[in-house]
Amino acid sequence: DIFTDRKNSAGLNLNIEAERTPLFKQLEQLAGKTWQAVPLVGGNAVAGKKQPVISPQNSACQVGEVVFADKATVQQAVTRAQAAFKGWRDTPAETRAQALEKLADLLEAHTAEFISLCTREAGKLLQDGIDEVREAVDFCRYYANEGRRLMAEPTRLPGYTGELNLLQAQGRGPFVCISPWNFPLAIFLGQVSAALVTGNTVLAKPAEQTSLIAHLAVTLAHQAGIPGDVLQLLPGDGASVGAALTEDPRIAGICFTGSTDTAKLINMTLARRDGAIVPLIAETGGQNAMIVDSTALPEQVVRDVLRAAFQSAGQRCSALRVLYLQDDIAERVLEILHGAMQELSVADPANWSTDVGPVIDADAQAGLQAHLDAAKAAGHRVLAEASMTDACTNGYYIRPTALEIGSIAELKKEQFGPILHVVRFKAKDIDRVIDDINATGYGLTLGVHSRNESFAAHVAKRAEVGNVYINRDQIGAMVGVQPFGGRGLSGTGPKAGGPHYLTRFITEKTVTNNT
Ligand code: GLU
Repeated sequence: DIFTDRKNSAGLNLNIEAERTPLFKQLEQLAGKTWQAVPLVGGNAVAGKKQPVISPQNSACQVGEVVFADKATVQQAVTRAQAAFKGWRDTPAETRAQALEKLADLLEAHTAEFISLCTREAGKLLQDGIDEVREAVDFCRYYANEGRRLMAEPTRLPGYTGELNLLQAQGRGPFVCISPWNFPLAIFLGQVSAALVTGNTVLAKPAEQTSLIAHLAVTLAHQAGIPGDVLQLLPGDGASVGAALTEDPRIAGICFTGSTDTAKLINMTLARRDGAIVPLIAETGGQNAMIVDSTALPEQVVRDVLRAAFQSAGQRCSALRVLYLQDDIAERVLEILHGAMQELSVADPANWSTDVGPVIDADAQAGLQAHLDAAKAAGHRVLAEASMTDACTNGYYIRPTALEIGSIAELKKEQFGPILHVVRFKAKDIDRVIDDINATGYGLTLGVHSRNESFAAHVAKRAEVGNVYINRDQIGAMVGVQPFGGRGLSGTGPKAGGPHYLTRFITEKTVTNNT
């Protein structure tokens, strides 16, 4: 029974003293630690030129050092992944599933280290760090179970003439996992655990901004019993390591989360290279809206808007970008939003009281700031904004801002940060509003706030998106509960944390035996 057999991780609750105090003590001890990330090929550390890893929160704060993989290292890793493939594919599914469950236990045991790294290397809030560990644990346990279900025994099919027909799921080969910095643990391990449990060997390329977190995760995976040739770590950027992996004719599939442009580039590279036609599982960007009609509760709307637009500094692909307010309720919502945004604490993510931390790096900051400046110069009204303190001057901060625009169509690209756009609409125009949202070509999340059930149902039905959320915020999809992922420019599917995800990582063999 899906409602009783599997439970999601509860994570830690900072409001409970007995959970908070020991965590804060551990975090204090870890605050000055310097971390290392290196390529892990065949279980061995590969030496190379060390580069400093600087915290997005403070350019004077070095978190550790990273060695990026070079082309020769990538090639050695693929050779090893290929050689190890058949052994791992033919390892019982139960053994692979148990290794992931062991990894989940190890992640929980190392929660404080990951939270510390998430705040320092990725600039994430403490709560974001807790959620990262929780989600990574969920992915490992969920895919372990799904792996058993899909891989353990062949499915017996009808044999009308007395033949025995068996359908067996098998791994495909060396699988490349390219993950983003915004979920440096959860998405990193979500991809990796899915590829491993289905019998693939894995070449993991984490985002170059968050190599330290990935290194710790892979080290624990090896401790959990996943062989060094079966899971290899290749830190580096997309242009070198990502491209070398994608071009290699020996790889059997790619799982990618990141920008839509990069997903298209990968697709093109895969099509042009020698070798087999292989699957690309891509989870990309969004231009996510929330539609609020006049029956909504303004206080509830604002609470959910704040979380959807500004949690994780808006750096979630699920985050709210465009808030559509029906004109009868717009002033009331905006008045509360204005007050609430002034109360946001934009500060050091390691402080428990911080609401919004920095964005990931200088490029992100510059791009978002340019968007804000251009919008203001074009005459778009600032409806609400947060205040920033001196604590932000040494980091990559963007002032959380709500801007008025005329339509979602004015936004040429996704703004991956704490910037909210607000559009007013009239009740009679609701279908045009939904059509405009659909016309962006993205299709990831959509929020609806309404106490009119038929209105909510109408919007949910007409919207071309992967995840609809009614009367709540639209981020933080839970593994096995809200399978996550979009359509169109937002990704290929199947949905992460859903019952069909693993099917794209396997190949199927039908054996017909005329006994
Ligand atoms: N699954 C995450 C959420 O629902 C978003 C994943 C992403 O940003 O890539 O918040």
